[in-house]
Amino acid sequence: MVHVLVLGGGFGGVAAAHQLRNLLSADDEVTLIAASDTFFVGFAKLWELGDVRPLAEGTRSLSSLENHRIRYVNAEITAIDASACSVETSAGAFTADGMIVALGATHPAKHATFFGTGVHNVYSAQALPGLKQALLAAAETGADENATVVISILGAPYLCPPAPFEAALIVDEWLRQRECRDRVDLVVSTPQPITLPVAGPDASHFLSEQLKARGVRVLTEHKVEDIDSDGTIRFGNGEELRGSLIAGVPAAAPPPVVASSQLAADGGWIKPDPRTFATSFDRIYAAGDCTLVPTANAQLPKAGVFAEAEGRVAATNLAADLIGGSRAEFDGHGYCFLELPGRKVARVEGNFYAEPRPDVVLSAPDAASFAAKQQWESQRLSEWFE
Ligand SMILES: Cc1cc2nc3c(=O)[nH]c(=O)nc-3n(C[C@H](O)[C@H](O)[C@H](O)COP(=O)(O)OP(=O)(O)OC[C@H]3O[C@@H](n4cnc5c(N)ncnc54)[C@H](O)[C@@H]3O)c2cc1C
Repeated sequence: MVHVLVLGGGFGGVAAAHQLRNLLSADDEVTLIAASDTFFVGFAKLWELGDVRPLAEGTRSLSSLENHRIRYVNAEITAIDASACSVETSAGAFTADGMIVALGATHPAKHATFFGTGVHNVYSAQALPGLKQALLAAAETGADENATVVISILGAPYLCPPAPFEAALIVDEWLRQRECRDRVDLVVSTPQPITLPVAGPDASHFLSEQLKARGVRVLTEHKVEDIDSDGTIRFGNGEELRGSLIAGVPAAAPPPVVASSQLAADGGWIKPDPRTFATSFDRIYAAGDCTLVPTANAQLPKAGVFAEAEGRVAATNLAADLIGGSRAEFDGHGYCFLELPGRKVARVEGNFYAEPRPDVVLSAPDAASFAAKQQWESQRLSEWFE
């Protein structure tokens, strides 16, 4: 009998745990440990923000993994000992024959400071009700004077590259429905030179035109240096912008428990083999946002689609290490959804590992792809949690 540990209950961890369960024998044990009991896809937060659908409808409890014979432990992991293949947690210590680390990403301390002083975190489910209330207040304030709502990408890389721009389009639509869009100056700032560097100049141009058509101003090469308590954003290029409401998109940072482990490489991230997701420790693999996977022009996007694919590959290879069987390799193919007004979706899709640059193209937005995005979510919720 073998026992494997999966650290993290997001896309990477849940996909890995199911794959291990499928490949290992019935008497082998799969234990998944996660601090948060819930699972939902990232874009469900934007649907909550835009009143498209309540977040609760797309949320599942990790406890239902037990129905799939995956043992679930709701605990905080406080230390990872890669040499011993063991972890310390708030529910005690666990040792196993193999391990998959899929602990996601957190954000830098500086960005946490901004969130503590009035900037709303667009990426936090807990912050969404406050953000919606503040949006309404900003729009009402705008009855006498124009309000300025700024969605500010605070650093890169950040999760799901199109999401901040999707958030701007969702806020635009939300304000239009409340007939107060004309009183709000809606701005997105990014430190990057174009909107979607990972997708290339054509896709970035397309997205910029979509935003322009909706009256959303985009400030590229605007790196946030500081945000004053009165809402003045100071950019690295010397410019300043005062926001009545600032919604920040934090940069991604490695979870402290990963950064302080033997697995940590550049900047505290885990750098596994980009095709097998093996780490330098035997029978220890890493998948998802806690990894840094270089590509020809940057790095693999931090997105659920990739975390899931990596989790499956890592699990297949760990099962092969433990009980034999086929191995798997990730070939770099993947996609990102780009949701546009009118319930349409475009996809940025292709080979992110291509040389000398990722070979990705943007598909034309249509309603069928929006339906495919909905289906993508519902399939995972039912296969993984029912
Ligand atoms: C607004 C928004 C929209 C998005 N839209 C998309 C999209 O359209 N398509 C797409 O592919 N991706 C999208 N994403 C990105 C996607 O959600 C993430 O990339 C994905 O969740 C990463 O999966 P993961 O398994 O690596 O990490 P996570 O999903 O973050 O999971 C990490 C897990 O580790 C656990 N954990 C962390 N630290 C500890 C600890 N110390 N102890 C115990 N447990 C711990 C957490 O509780 C969690 O269970 C979006 C993200 C956001 C914020």
